[in-house]
Amino acid sequence: MAKTRTRRLPRQDVEAIFGAFAAANPEPKGELDYVNAFTLLVAVVLSAQATDLGVNKATRGLFAVADTPEKMVALGVEGIEERIKTIGLFRGKARNVFGLSQLLIERHGSEVPQTREALEALPGVGRKTANVVLNIFFKQPTIAVDTHLFRVGNRTGLAPGKTPLEVELALLKVVPEPYLLHAHHWLILHGRYVCKARKPECWRCVIAEWCRFEPKTPEPKGALEAGHAVRSPAPLRGGDRGGG
Ligand code: SF4
Repeated sequence: MAKTRTRRLPRQDVEAIFGAFAAANPEPKGELDYVNAFTLLVAVVLSAQATDLGVNKATRGLFAVADTPEKMVALGVEGIEERIKTIGLFRGKARNVFGLSQLLIERHGSEVPQTREALEALPGVGRKTANVVLNIFFKQPTIAVDTHLFRVGNRTGLAPGKTPLEVELALLKVVPEPYLLHAHHWLILHGRYVCKARKPECWRCVIAEWCRFEPKTPEPKGALEAGHAVRSPAPLRGGDRGGG
């Protein structure tokens, strides 16, 4: 028999979930280091299939010498490669960073554009990357759906969907307006640190009361002694797979 999809949550439960996230972590932050819109864009492009910690390690040196499109172009593809070679897929990413820097100079006066269309026209920039930059730097209420958001959206019943785009559009519909700006960070941090892929830590989850996922993971024996018994949405820093 086909697996039944999680039922969508009623509005009051969605409100309660975001109220709980907001109470636990009022100003959630992304985990990629950057100093301006350009370096954020580059960091997000580099974070595909890589950890934020790994990206931050590499970009420390890269951004010290190239924090503008002009300086990045001056490094050349090889100079960029040299500085990011600890990151997976670094050759392709170096080409994209070089190419997007060139396009920013040629088409956008060296500024990062503030529209999805213009961002997605840059090499290496897809819908998810554009959403992260628009949300984090330009404070637009976008939601970038990565593997964590996709899982949380489906498991909880917040935004069931078969594709990342379906989950994104469903979230944009159901997340109450006051919570839209931070929804991306709350959900990504929740997926990284609490609602983990293999074993969600339901026993310390601040939204367990409204989540549709069953059976919930019980508190492991010895959690108290190990100091894990705090109900928390997520620590502020960490190193799971990237995406802002
Ligand atoms: S209760 Fe469990 S499955 Fe539901 S959101 Fe929390 S950690 Fe995830």
